[in-house]
Amino acid sequence: MAKKSTKAAKALKKAKKGKAARVKPAKARAKADDKALHGKTKPWSPAEVEEAFRRFQEAMPEPKGELHHVNPFTLLVAVVLSAQATDAGVNKATPALFALADTPEKMAALGEDRVRELVKTIGLFRTKAKNVIGLSHKLIAEHGGRVPNTREALQELPGVGRKTANVVLNIAFGHPTMAVDTHIFRIGNRTGLAPGKDPLAVELKLLEAIPEKYMMHAHHWLILHGRYICLARRPLCEKCVIADLCKWPGKTVLTTG
Ligand code: SF4
Repeated sequence: MAKKSTKAAKALKKAKKGKAARVKPAKARAKADDKALHGKTKPWSPAEVEEAFRRFQEAMPEPKGELHHVNPFTLLVAVVLSAQATDAGVNKATPALFALADTPEKMAALGEDRVRELVKTIGLFRTKAKNVIGLSHKLIAEHGGRVPNTREALQELPGVGRKTANVVLNIAFGHPTMAVDTHIFRIGNRTGLAPGKDPLAVELKLLEAIPEKYMMHAHHWLILHGRYICLARRPLCEKCVIADLCKWPGKTVLTTG
């Protein structure tokens, strides 16, 4: 606790000397987010993008997704279950589900009622249970019980959109994809790294801006950055490794206002 307040005091001292981002009240931060959403932040130079990802890599050389899974099929199911829900919430329900069914065949045999019961703590569980059974049947009928490794085939499965397909392609098959979730959408716009009106626009800009050598892990670095540092309401700019590169005019070093 004492360590934390010393850190905050140091950050404030630095900010007062103009050596860090200045403190902004909540209203100014909201205005800055609005401005960023309309693409009015300064663009990043290729050297700045390179530097940002060099730092992410240095801080976390092997980032990992946080969804519990044991094979590509359970990863696919976990990602389908995670739509509009937290990874932590999904992880509470899936160990029991995957202990009973870790293949499409076992999942189909388990049946929709049982799956619904097992995932009932997750939001939209009725639709999700239906999709999990639907995709299991389709995998058995059309893909020999295996998870396909192309975006087109994945997106034909019930409950699987572009973002889910990108996550599965990246984590299960090592494709350098960029799955834009709410965190990455916010970071792309807020920082000025990849402004865009919808997730697809942000995804395409990130794919264009990020050097290829960082693409395999870029999606994880950005998600974790958004989940733990660049928070929606009160980003922790004082702990941010890219604070000097970020173009957001609402940067703050203290959580005031
Ligand atoms: S946490 Fe970092 S990336 Fe997010 S707004 Fe603050 S300085 Fe920018």
